[in-house]
Amino acid sequence: MNDTAQEKPAPTLTTLPSDDLRQIMWRFAGRYELQMLVQSVRAVARGPVARLVASGGRNSHEWTADKASLLPHFDESGITAAFLDPEQGGFIEGPKNLALALIAFELSWVDAGAATSSLAGHLGLAPIHERGTPEQRAQYVANAAPLKPGENRRQVRAAFALTEPIPFVGVETGMLAGKVRVAEWKEGREPLLQVDKRGRFITNMGFANVVTAAVESDDARLKGSCMVILQEGDPGLWDRGTPTKKLVHQLSSTNDPVFNLKVPASRIVGGYTVKDGVIIPNYSHAEIIEAVFRRTRVTVGLMTAAKLLSAVEPVILYHRRRFRGGQGAPGTPRYELGIQQKQDALHRLVDIWATGEASASLGFETARLFDQLDPLEKEKDRILTEKKLTGRAAFKELSKAQAEALQLLNTHQPLEAPLVKFAQLDSLANVLCPACKLWNTGHGANMMREAVSLMGGYGLTEDCPGFIGQKWMDAQLEATYEGPEAVQRLQLSITMTNELFLAQFNQWIADLKRIASDRPGTGACALGTAMKLWFWTLQHVQNANDADGVKLYHKTRQGVTFPLADALCWLLAARQFILDVIELETKGAENPALADGLGGTTAFFTDLCHVQAARAAGEVGRICAETVHGYNRHPAWDESSRRACYGAEELTALEGIIPGIAGTARAYSDVLEPGQAQPLKAGPCVKCEGLEGFVALRAKLDTCLTGCRLAKDRAAESLTKVMTREALDYPA
Ligand SMILES: Cc1cc2nc3c(=O)[nH]c(=O)nc-3n(C[C@H](O)[C@H](O)[C@H](O)COP(=O)(O)OP(=O)(O)OC[C@H]3O[C@@H](n4cnc5c(N)ncnc54)[C@H](O)[C@@H]3O)c2cc1C
Repeated sequence: MNDTAQEKPAPTLTTLPSDDLRQIMWRFAGRYELQMLVQSVRAVARGPVARLVASGGRNSHEWTADKASLLPHFDESGITAAFLDPEQGGFIEGPKNLALALIAFELSWVDAGAATSSLAGHLGLAPIHERGTPEQRAQYVANAAPLKPGENRRQVRAAFALTEPIPFVGVETGMLAGKVRVAEWKEGREPLLQVDKRGRFITNMGFANVVTAAVESDDARLKGSCMVILQEGDPGLWDRGTPTKKLVHQLSSTNDPVFNLKVPASRIVGGYTVKDGVIIPNYSHAEIIEAVFRRTRVTVGLMTAAKLLSAVEPVILYHRRRFRGGQGAPGTPRYELGIQQKQDALHRLVDIWATGEASASLGFETARLFDQLDPLEKEKDRILTEKKLTGRAAFKELSKAQAEALQLLNTHQPLEAPLVKFAQLDSLANVLCPACKLWNTGHGANMMREAVSLMGGYGLTEDCPGFIGQKWMDAQLEATYEGPEAVQRLQLSITMTNELFLAQFNQWIADLKRIASDRPGTGACALGTAMKLWFWTLQHVQNANDADGVKLYHKTRQGVTFPLADALCWLLAARQFILDVIELETKGAENPALADGLGGTTAFFTDLCHVQAARAAGEVGRICAETVHGYNRHPAWDESSRRACYGAEELTALEGIIPGIAGTARAYSDVLEPGQAQPLKAGPCVKCEGLEGFVALRAKLDTCLTGCRLAKDRAAESLTKVMTREALDYPA
């Protein structure tokens, strides 16, 4: 036997990724309570939720008894209580961002409307959870816990009311029509408030009995804006309004409610103080929604990630069986592979899978980041309170911590002090949260369309296995609610320029270069170069003007800031996917029980990483090139512009093919009028003057793509061999 014959064949993907592998990648292998939660949520998702979808439960706008029957399932499976602390009736100690992310993921694997229904309850309570007084938490959050046997109380079911009828609150959250006035304020007694709020598209409103509503003062005796807690039974008007005629997430309830209620001032979320006869809420509505959304948006990002990954198996099953029963017997490629004989169908599924992985990686990383940040944020608040620092003074203290964090990072020293660590993680969270909401849902919705197209006509029916058509539409809602893409891009355009974030970003580039030398197959090299290109571009646009001398990086110039925000998201998602695959490879190897399929899965995932890194690099290259060159005016077609188009190397190469070409411009008659031919000189490119660094990086980026299509071919081949179940584990 020669050497080649003795070589072991490269491991290949045998089965779809198991829970064991997912627990390692998404870092909950050591958290048994989360593993149990995943199993019980999955039983609800693939049981009652799936049966309701399959039996047409989505075909109505109203909140029906069938839809309501899911609530007890949420209660019994731990979904409702997962949001609560143990003293409030919950079962998870400490931060719960990862837990809620896993719930959203599991439910959305089948139906994101069901996920929304459960999560909107948490969203309704989140203002109280994040900023409420201890009394408010005890009364409302604790009463959201499912009833224990023998208990006799009304379980709180909450809704969150920010959005208002047009022309008021939508993307612009400051334009509040909802008003609050002092209705009655007797000497020495608590003031009574009159709250007048109309909502638009309010989730859970078909059944909620508590609403947290954003309102603005319409009374000189009350300052600014706030959120107030409204309760069914408060004196006045509690009108749930008409159901929204949604095309999406029909298993959740959405209405346009109308409230005009009298409530005690103690319902102001987070409490208030009284100064000179004026009620001053401790938190404005903007401060509260900021604290709430930055966490809840992460779970939304995971809903779309789940959809993409859930589409893989139904598409494989459909493609393989497409031609069975006609010509071709078992064992023939036509019978065994069906549409999988066609490369394009395989390549497109590889893209969908890679996107799903990258978005799940980004989403779960962000959820874990918030789990780290939550206790630090509490500690930060405690320290600031202890030092009696508020407003500008608190801001100054945090700026000091930010500067210290930057200095420590730049000198590669550990960040240990709580305020410094907080500053570091906060700068990341401020980028990762909008990034995962934006990219996972926005690009995810585009990729769901690809999944629909791979199912042919079936993709557009209710009978489509895996409910892929509905999931495509649903993904668009995920891109819209809790702030559409424009909101996330706006936020990123500010947070991504934070020096502290950029210092960490630059360290990641160096890390990727190291990864590239150990694991070139991941595409880390292309990704690192793309990150450099993005950083170069960001710095350039922050200092450059367009052809008319107008500043490029400005908040009104969304044509510059928004695409760069999009580009960053591609990078972050691809990077996190690579890190998760490395985690799988290293930690998985420590567990002998996983030995069997691990090598094949990591090899396959490595190829998917490469595919995704290359796609990200391409997208980033395009966006950066359009941004860097696109705001310069094209020079006239004179001698200098000819130099601009053909550099010395290019001319020499052309000369080798068409002798004499370098001395004449005749060959460029498409550019020059006949008779205009002049000697052509090689020289520096005028269009690129001052941009040489960019041009060099961009050229390098192209060569970094080496091998990415071979990786795609390998991944596609794996799709033809991987074992699947005979049928999905939920009905169609
Ligand atoms: C099914 C469903 C459930 C919902 N549940 C809730 C809920 O429970 N509670 C709640 O309060 N709200 C809820 N919403 C409302 C949702 O959050 C809003 O629809 C969303 O935030 C966008 O507001 P809008 O529809 O008014 O869009 P608009 O404000 O009208 O914006 C429309 C579009 O204009 C563009 N645009 C707007 N402003 C800018 C800008 N500054 N820069 C660039 N482009 C811009 C963007 O493309 C944007 O998508 C729900 C919505 C739906 C559909």
